Amino acid sequence: MTAVAASRSQTLGVLGGGQLGRMFVHAAQAHGFRVVVLEPDAASPAGAAADVHLRAPYTDAAALHELQRLCRAVTTEFENVPAAALHELARTCVVAPAASAVEICQHRGLEKAAFAAGGVPCAPHALVQSSADAHSQRMAALQPGILKTSSLGYDGKGQVAVSGLANLPSVWASLGSVPCVLEQRLPLRHEISVIVARGADGQVVNLPVQQNLHREGVLSVTQVPAPDIDAATAVRAVALACRMAEALQYVGVLCTEFFVLADGSLVANEMAPRPHNSGHYSIDACDVSQFDLQLRALVGWPLATPRLHSAAVMLNLLGDLWFDAVPDTDTDTDTDTETDASARAPDWAALLALPGVHLHLYGKAEPRRGRKMGHLTVTAPDAAAARATALRAAALLGQAPF
Ligand code: ADP
Ligand code: MG
Repeated sequence: MTAVAASRSQTLGVLGGGQLGRMFVHAAQAHGFRVVVLEPDAASPAGAAADVHLRAPYTDAAALHELQRLCRAVTTEFENVPAAALHELARTCVVAPAASAVEICQHRGLEKAAFAAGGVPCAPHALVQSSADAHSQRMAALQPGILKTSSLGYDGKGQVAVSGLANLPSVWASLGSVPCVLEQRLPLRHEISVIVARGADGQVVNLPVQQNLHREGVLSVTQVPAPDIDAATAVRAVALACRMAEALQYVGVLCTEFFVLADGSLVANEMAPRPHNSGHYSIDACDVSQFDLQLRALVGWPLATPRLHSAAVMLNLLGDLWFDAVPDTDTDTDTDTETDASARAPDWAALLALPGVHLHLYGKAEPRRGRKMGHLTVTAPDAAAARATALRAAALLGQAPF
């Protein structure tokens, strides 16, 4: 009886088996916790690292009961975790973030309403939920626009550019006529993100502002300190991100993405209710990482403000690198069909010979185009040195300079 109770107090749960879960598992285990991962996939990055892998659907009643029995607290590592699972777990476990906050971040319409309620500016937008909406003259003011599915979009998937009002009905149909949000396309000068952590006691800390470069809708490069963001803009972005964490009464790690417009104004784009790809550099460049913060918030430990001890550039390692490094004799244009047969891992030894390179691979067996296989973080004493080395790393990888 005592042994079981003691072990439950030292055991944490994660819903989801991806790389964010894997890096949380590493942080929790480094602090002496056991981690149970609930993930249906037999071969998952977090499942492979976990002490216990419960292999079942996220809403499986028996698996959720087992998580409750084993764990004192449960967190999530992906955005589309079923809210019902979080509600069920919350009956007997600490759950952070709470279902109510996750539900808002899962739905672009609710998310925009939350920005508005929090007094945080976001892109002019309107809901497109019916054929009448898609044909409505009201949508003219939002052209040219971007139509995004209200839920389940990620990495640029589930969104299509709209060139004009006449174009909207066909674009909506191409997205399956599901509930969508139409946003005005804004003139972005830069993209940044701010990661904050908030404890159950209301303490809020933040990581430094990250500057992000997306390519084809997917994060490619994160630079910290943000090279093109002045101090006043950074202060404003952090204040807005903290305001959202307060407004949502959020507990855990929350990432808010912002656009910096040509006139210098800030527009909130979206929130992720979890650690974020743009915060991976914090493992190597900060004295407290975003995953350490997730752990501290989950178990009720104090949140220390992370100190950036090195300048950092993070390069995402997408599966494309495994294919583009080899001469391509394949004339098939459907790249999704490429398999292991033609794949070759990048030259890790050449990359690791550069100063300050930290390689993180997520243990995914099969490289695929667009799949996040890992990342590397270059740390250096100053931003110029980090950038110079990262550019050399990008060249070795065959990635375009930034
Ligand atoms: P995802 O969930 O796929 O990350 P986002 O809403 O963040 O979707 O959009 C992906 C990228 O598309 C953004 O990082 C930005 O580069 C671009 N984008 C999105 N919305 C707009 C907009 N309203 N105006 C201009 N560019 C946008
Ligand atoms: Mg985004």
